[in-house]
Amino acid sequence: MSQKHLGHTARKRFGQNFLHDQYVIDKIVSAINPQPGENLVEIGPGLGALTEPVAEYIDHLTVVELDRDLAKRLIHHPFLNKKLTVIEQDALKFDFSSLIKEPGDLRIFGNLPYNISTPLMFHLFSFSTQVKDMHFMLQNEVVKRLCATHGDKLYGRLSVMAQYYCDASPVVAVPPSAFKPAPKVDSAVVRLVPHKTPPADVKDINILQRVVTTAFNQRRKTIRNSLKDLLSSDDISDLGIKPELRAEALSLQDFALLANKVHSTL
Ligand code: SAM
Repeated sequence: MSQKHLGHTARKRFGQNFLHDQYVIDKIVSAINPQPGENLVEIGPGLGALTEPVAEYIDHLTVVELDRDLAKRLIHHPFLNKKLTVIEQDALKFDFSSLIKEPGDLRIFGNLPYNISTPLMFHLFSFSTQVKDMHFMLQNEVVKRLCATHGDKLYGRLSVMAQYYCDASPVVAVPPSAFKPAPKVDSAVVRLVPHKTPPADVKDINILQRVVTTAFNQRRKTIRNSLKDLLSSDDISDLGIKPELRAEALSLQDFALLANKVHSTL
């Protein structure tokens, strides 16, 4: 069934669910709190539900939009066009560091296409040293994953890596009725603030990723089993970590110790 909003037919393949609830939009904009002179970047501006109110506070805004028709609408927008730089590209492939004006000044936000939210988070983490903060609308479950700590039910690879890069906190809960078309699940806005100094000493981030991914790919197994190709049981216990634990019981600090041990054996 085609879903039209403001004369545009929503494209499922681009994860298009447009915000139309003014109360929710106002809450998100005040959570972002745009200030004149800041370097703001929106991912997936769509029909401008967040772009228009954010642009009221600032003189210039960069937007990254994959849908050609929507990008064109923004380029020809009657009053936004003067303030916008429209980048018609896939945010997953876009080099966000090309937008830096001063070190660490990027403020990124967006109501993200849910179908690409996890890979997009990982792509954005790679620019975290250049980012002041990020505000994203995501499926509530993904927000919970981003904010989970060890022992939580939804704690996993995304939680550990998010913790390494950022402080994550939920800021606005959003019901399906706030969108057109309405998604099947609840949503929430998460605030991600990159750490100035990482909370764990990690020698090689790629090895941390590998250890975390390997451990959570077999999350029902003990780490003695899931990590056996990387570390021996003695290696693990020498670090003060019990080899009979599962990945979900390990903190970021534990994963950092394991990753550094793998690094030292290479
Ligand atoms: N910001 C609008 C709103 O809140 O109503 C639209 C949000 S909609 C959930 C997601 C937007 O991201 C759509 O405009 C879609 O075309 C765009 N989009 C989808 N995939 C994208 C990608 N890989 N890179 C950039 N934009 C993308």
